[in-house]
Amino acid sequence: MKYVIGNWKSNQNITESLIWLDGLSALRPRFSSDLAVILCLPFTDIAAFNHKLADLELPIITGSQNVSHMPPGKHTGEITANMLSELVSYCIVGHSERRQEFSETSDVVALKARYLLENSITPIVCIDLPYLDEQVKALFNLDIEVSRCFFVYEPISAIGTGKPVDPVDANHVAGQIAFLTDNQAPILYGGSVSQDNVASFVNQSKINGVLVGTDSLEPTLFAGIINSLS
Ligand code: PEP
Repeated sequence: MKYVIGNWKSNQNITESLIWLDGLSALRPRFSSDLAVILCLPFTDIAAFNHKLADLELPIITGSQNVSHMPPGKHTGEITANMLSELVSYCIVGHSERRQEFSETSDVVALKARYLLENSITPIVCIDLPYLDEQVKALFNLDIEVSRCFFVYEPISAIGTGKPVDPVDANHVAGQIAFLTDNQAPILYGGSVSQDNVASFVNQSKINGVLVGTDSLEPTLFAGIINSLS
């Protein structure tokens, strides 16, 4: 199975998200049975987006981009994994933007992954070289089944810059992640993926898919990525 995961970040209100979906649907991308298309949305968009997805019968699975590291309870404003369990099947954790802007640590990411798995949501764990070993260790410290997680190698130099790393180098790091996680989990690459370069990443032996930020926001570009892999 190959994976394309879109990450809209803090973009698109409900109305805009539904217009995006109409736009993608009109383009009739080729969804092949060996390609899973996952879209990670802002919390506020997910319910309406899911309704419309069902109406359009499009094979897109929704995810969120964050979750609380707290259990349900007195934590004003937090969105728990239990709340998300009725809305999504996947959730991004540990994105470098959250590490940089919200001081998210590997231990907090591991806690989030634990609550997600307890609620049958697959954590999509983003990692980069500086904290690769530390992040995987933090997961093992909480007895997290890494076979139930996805991992994304996301070099900071490549995120949102239009400058992806060399696919061969990405494959090398994907191999390191595969080794650390006992070859049990899908490994993806993220960082300036486009319809023109996506195949060069997914054709690598250790890379099972891609995480796409910028080019997931425009239906034409996202459909192009789907078509390139189908
Ligand atoms: C990301 O932020 O996860 C990402 C991959 O962004 P971009 O595709 O814009 O580099």
